[in-house]
Amino acid sequence: MSIAASPNVDVERLRRELRGQVFTPEDAGYHDAQRLFVPVYDGVRPAVIAQVAEASDVATVLSAAREAGLPLAIRSGGHSAAGHSTSDGGIVIDVRGLKSLEIDLESKTAWADSGLSAAEYSNETNAQGLATGLGDTGSVGLGGITLGGGIGFLVRKHGMTIDSLLAAEVVTADGEVVHTDPASHPDLFWAIRGGGGNFGVATRFKLRLQPLDKIVGGMMILPATIDTIVGFIAEAEQAPEELSTIANVMTCPPMPFVPEEFHGSLVIMGLVAWCGDLDEGQKVIDRFRSLARPIADMVQEMPYPEIYGPEDEEYRPLAVARTMWADSFELATAETILGFLEDSDAPMRVAQLRVLGGAMSRVPNDATAFAHRDRKMMVNVASFYEGPDDRSRREEWVSDFAKALSNGDLGGYVGFLADEGEERVRAAYPGATWDRLRRIKGQYDPDNLFQLNQNIPPAS
Ligand SMILES: Cc1cc2nc3c(=O)[nH]c(=O)nc-3n(C[C@H](O)[C@H](O)[C@H](O)COP(=O)(O)OP(=O)(O)OC[C@H]3O[C@@H](n4cnc5c(N)ncnc54)[C@H](O)[C@@H]3O)c2cc1C
Repeated sequence: MSIAASPNVDVERLRRELRGQVFTPEDAGYHDAQRLFVPVYDGVRPAVIAQVAEASDVATVLSAAREAGLPLAIRSGGHSAAGHSTSDGGIVIDVRGLKSLEIDLESKTAWADSGLSAAEYSNETNAQGLATGLGDTGSVGLGGITLGGGIGFLVRKHGMTIDSLLAAEVVTADGEVVHTDPASHPDLFWAIRGGGGNFGVATRFKLRLQPLDKIVGGMMILPATIDTIVGFIAEAEQAPEELSTIANVMTCPPMPFVPEEFHGSLVIMGLVAWCGDLDEGQKVIDRFRSLARPIADMVQEMPYPEIYGPEDEEYRPLAVARTMWADSFELATAETILGFLEDSDAPMRVAQLRVLGGAMSRVPNDATAFAHRDRKMMVNVASFYEGPDDRSRREEWVSDFAKALSNGDLGGYVGFLADEGEERVRAAYPGATWDRLRRIKGQYDPDNLFQLNQNIPPAS
């Protein structure tokens, strides 16, 4: 389908036919409805934002988008780094009105609407002593994180979010409401586990829940030296799978609980989550404490969802970032990281290191559209910038930093890709995964109606 901006949406008809709400730029509420997590997209002006209330609303909007020939964006939590969940002059299907969550205590499963945020889902399931692994941020939407893969605080013990996905309800490009699971539309079920929003609008997910009430977790800040960085990664790799970690090697923000002398110095802001026996967890985490005297140590027993931490909606820094995989971590890697971080004068700069393995790595690479199970670590490098004046300088730094760490390996996590071009999307789906995704895309969305995403072109 060729997409050209046109004003031909019958908004009044949409308003009559939808159970949800419809916003156009003249409406009060439009501004809030169009705002994404990333501030660079604040100026984007969709022609219509449809906040759907049920799957049939989605089908109605899909048909309107087809008729009008307008670009179509799908939005859940609004965290797309590429701005794919909005569109200038286009139509946005916003699933945030879909918030139902039905927990079946006996089977330890939940049917969860795709408009729930990670925190909303986790708070409700925690009230029943249950959890599903999502990401590291409470405001991320269940829609985007599940379809991209989901790498979070339970990844080593319970795998990715898609490893807990048992079934989904998806409205496909032709408006059909499809139930997909390993037996029903198995190709679609394979494709949505990592293939992002390419195959339809997911309205509900059936997710496996694990018994989990409290964890030992939180933030520990250590001084960043070659030894502490190498030591942190070694401990994270050797730890039992109950422990998942995120090591942010970065400039220390001026947080009130950090002594002033450390503000702006290079630290490891470690986030740790232990989901097993609590006393054993304390002992395992003590090994990180013994790497250096912690500058701050807020690791404690807590209900699992508290690991997300508070979020300030008004704190919306501008950032450029790059994601990649790594299979080893040497002394020289730590040297490179410290060298780049020291050389930059950006207000904030970071190398984020996530040790993977465990349950995530026991699923074969070809079992889902996410196909990087064998990679040992995910690495993200990022720099804040202040505006147009320093953006290209910060971008160049991020790109050089990523090149130095990745040795030409283009692969990365689709959930963290920005608008980085076809080559990077292709590398996110290596080998036969790409060809299979293209065939399934050809079957379920031959006209590429869903193209505002990390796009997989349909095989003809
Ligand atoms: C601060 C931050 C922290 C993050 N932390 C993690 C992390 O720890 N682990 C991790 O794995 N990822 C993480 N991510 C990446 C995140 O999972 C992806 O950006 C994800 O796509 C965001 O989902 P969303 O619903 O919030 O975003 P949206 O912008 O609403 O959606 C992103 C894209 O997903 C697709 N999509 C969303 N909902 C649907 C739906 N219902 N049906 C069909 N397609 C849909 C669309 O293509 C859309 O453009 C993080 C991102 C940010 C910004």
